[in-house]
Amino acid sequence: MSTFKAPKGTYDLLPPDSAVYLAVREAISAPLRRAGYGYAETPGFENVELFSRGVGESTDIVTKEMYTLTTKGGDELALRPEGTASVLRAALEANLHKAGNLPVKLWYSGSYYRYERPQAGRYRHFSQVGAEAIGAEDPALDAELIILAVDAYRSLGLRNFRLLLNSLGDQECRPVYRAALQEFLRGLDLDEDTRRRIEINPLRVLDDKREAVQKQLTGAPMMRDHLCASCTAYHEQVRELLTAAGVVFEDDTKLVRGLDYYTRTTFEFVHDGLGSQSAVGGGGRYDGLSEMIGGPSLPSVGWALGVDRTVLALRAEGVELALPAATQVYAVPLGEEARRVLFGVVTELRRAGVAADFSYGGRGLKGAMKSANRSRARIALVAGERDLAEGVIQLKDLGSGEQRAVPAGEITAAVRAALG
Ligand code: ATP
Ligand code: MG
Repeated sequence: MSTFKAPKGTYDLLPPDSAVYLAVREAISAPLRRAGYGYAETPGFENVELFSRGVGESTDIVTKEMYTLTTKGGDELALRPEGTASVLRAALEANLHKAGNLPVKLWYSGSYYRYERPQAGRYRHFSQVGAEAIGAEDPALDAELIILAVDAYRSLGLRNFRLLLNSLGDQECRPVYRAALQEFLRGLDLDEDTRRRIEINPLRVLDDKREAVQKQLTGAPMMRDHLCASCTAYHEQVRELLTAAGVVFEDDTKLVRGLDYYTRTTFEFVHDGLGSQSAVGGGGRYDGLSEMIGGPSLPSVGWALGVDRTVLALRAEGVELALPAATQVYAVPLGEEARRVLFGVVTELRRAGVAADFSYGGRGLKGAMKSANRSRARIALVAGERDLAEGVIQLKDLGSGEQRAVPAGEITAAVRAALG
């Protein structure tokens, strides 16, 4: 134990659990890579204004959850609380949208920071894999991203997740709806904070998790009934494409999500085994964001899936991922000469693509074999003076316990054959 602990609301990823996180990131990104999304990486911090403008002044993320700092040079920065604003900023800065090949499709994976009340599934440092398709307004693109997320969850073996789907309308129909909703909300019995929210971002009141608020929302005007003709047609196409792809969804007219920039298609993936932190991922269309951060009009759509909660969901369903063995072969040298020879064999095996490890520290047979078993290797290679004099290495199958002598020059081939 050291004097220090991981900061409140954070945790460390260490073996063996860390392998599951890597596998989840890999599984989420694999469908994206197959669909033409290129990898993007942006700084862990940005100018604070990118988020206050891009995510929205009235959101919890900006008002309560952002880690901000002033640098020695006087810059106002924030640790990134989400990925979309940064990735769009990067794409605009590099003029990717001018290369003549829209949409620009990017995926990313990394750490995000929010000053939240830590609890199961809610941390101050967490990890997301995200995707953005920038610069095209096409229902097939919205559907593509949703299908890719569903395929990612399915490839992990998750079953108990649900897709909630909604449309938030556009610049034409949303203002009309917003006004109607405001009028309804102003008539309710709500606290000061919520009353203020009615004026700034009334749609967010629909998202209020408190029962006392939810009860009063029965009969509230719904976006669904206010969508303009083009938004209705767009949404209908998204739904048809999803259905054709075998993706099941639930229409959730109250789904607005926590970020201000969403338009039209909005969705969230929830998992029923996670208690109150049930959202494992979410996203939507954000046609106005580019202009909000000083760029041209670039209708776009994207999502971010939470890696931490996906791992919790796997646990909740009892899914064991088939992870590649960390070590397939474990070498146990007995004596100096054997150390030299087996170290060479281990190096050669690794170069041949076999995961091999070595008993370091000059330990005796018993201790070394214990480590071999603990490493969960399938094969142990043992050599002592007598073996070397005979030009052989003992190849032991740690599953069956069977052991045979293999000529030293054939050991790599024999190991590969034994591993199948
Ligand atoms: P919530 O409603 O649970 O606060 P959110 O709407 O703030 O979620 P998004 O900003 O949409 O979440 O982020 C996408 C995903 O990232 C979430 O669905 C969730 O899986 C994950 N996520 C968000 N905040 C956290 C956090 N503090 N700890 C762990 N995972 C998180
Ligand atoms: Mg949140």
